Amino acid sequence: MVGAGPVGLTAALALRALDIPVRLLEADPQDRVRPGSRALYVHRDSLTLLDRMRPGLGTAIARRGIRWAGRRTRYRGHEVFARDHRDGSGAGGHGLPPYACLRQIETEGFLLESCREAGVEFAWSARVETVRSTPDGVEVHAADGRSWSAGYVIAADGARSPVRAAIGRTMVGGRSNSHHVVVDLADDPRVPEPALRTFHYHHPGLGGRHVLVVPFAGGRQVDLQCRPGEDPEEFLDEARLRDWLPQVVDRGYLDRVLWASRYPFLQLVADSFVDEHRRVLLAGEAAHLFAPFGARGMNSGIADADAAASAVALALRATGPERARGAVEDYAAERTAAARHNRDAAGRALRHMRPRSPALRGAQRAAAALSPAVPRLGEWLERAPYGPRTAATAHGTY
Ligand SMILES: Cc1cc2nc3c(=O)[nH]c(=O)nc-3n(C[C@H](O)[C@H](O)[C@H](O)COP(=O)(O)OP(=O)(O)OC[C@H]3O[C@@H](n4cnc5c(N)ncnc54)[C@H](O)[C@@H]3O)c2cc1C
Repeated sequence: MVGAGPVGLTAALALRALDIPVRLLEADPQDRVRPGSRALYVHRDSLTLLDRMRPGLGTAIARRGIRWAGRRTRYRGHEVFARDHRDGSGAGGHGLPPYACLRQIETEGFLLESCREAGVEFAWSARVETVRSTPDGVEVHAADGRSWSAGYVIAADGARSPVRAAIGRTMVGGRSNSHHVVVDLADDPRVPEPALRTFHYHHPGLGGRHVLVVPFAGGRQVDLQCRPGEDPEEFLDEARLRDWLPQVVDRGYLDRVLWASRYPFLQLVADSFVDEHRRVLLAGEAAHLFAPFGARGMNSGIADADAAASAVALALRATGPERARGAVEDYAAERTAAARHNRDAAGRALRHMRPRSPALRGAQRAAAALSPAVPRLGEWLERAPYGPRTAATAHGTY
């Protein structure tokens, strides 16, 4: 295994659940501090997969995460959609909730702990530099001179994936010419704010830019959509943050900024998820990069991890090299199809948020105006920025 992000940790856990010995190589030191809330929204499918790999793990994550008190959509200052949810707390009752919202760093904490309990061996500060695969296995070399060999390698080494480069695979797809600014804010436990997820089209106090607020356990994430060509840094320095954030959240949050960053809207998928010898399997952001809208990044990575571990188990048990290759190729085919579906869904979300056609812009304006009389138009405005929800595969929805 390469990479101890959420996908690598999940793959390690899935392999251990199948009784396969695992060594996980991670470039960072053991005492690293990971930045930002990032993947907040953990789908029930992911919670279910995690519970299956390590009984109680999905449930523990669900209990730590929250569910929103409600959802709101506004258009140029007017509410066009409002729905209250019965339970705005963590997982209660029976079974897993439809989702849990918590900081990625916390989800990773649960995964790391479970990996340790499951007997995953870690090599920290192991920055993988070269990977050589042959028909019989893989050799991996780290920058500090250490090296390892294995029958198979699952590479979950993130967006820049040196392993992907080493096996000669490249990302294919596009990116938008605009950025999002993302800011994490801590809640003040003495002044509880309702956990409302709010999407605002053309916020009048933000020069008509779109803004999304997503509550998570202990805080909320604000996502501001810059205009095409706009420099996101202009919204990130402290003075500018103090300028625009009060348009979106209570002023009290200004002193509780946890993290502020930027990201481009990406729709990239690797040209192949496996190496030529079918010994290296790419998973998570090493294999695909999507914008956060729709919560497809980590959730689809967790499904990749589960599928990659199953493929390795099948390959190890296979009665001949052709069957072993076939198991790995099946992984590539299934998860490439899921990734392409997610890329296209992200593309639809992007086209909705930045409509090029005057007809779609007009439809959105009309839907906003008519939503008080025709609630399903408000519902369309609420749902469309996330793209379609389904991509059924054997390894979870995403
Ligand atoms: C603002 C924002 C919001 C998001 N919201 C969501 C959401 O709600 N839901 C969702 O599903 N996703 C979301 N995502 C996406 C999610 O954060 C990523 O998909 C997820 O972190 C990818 O996990 P990963 O394990 O593939 O990669 P990473 O988290 O990048 O982990 C890769 C690991 O590999 C290690 N590594 C890198 N190079 C090497 C090397 N050479 N040798 C050894 N180790 C190496 C890194 O140190 C790291 O530990 C969001 C992202 C952003 C930016």
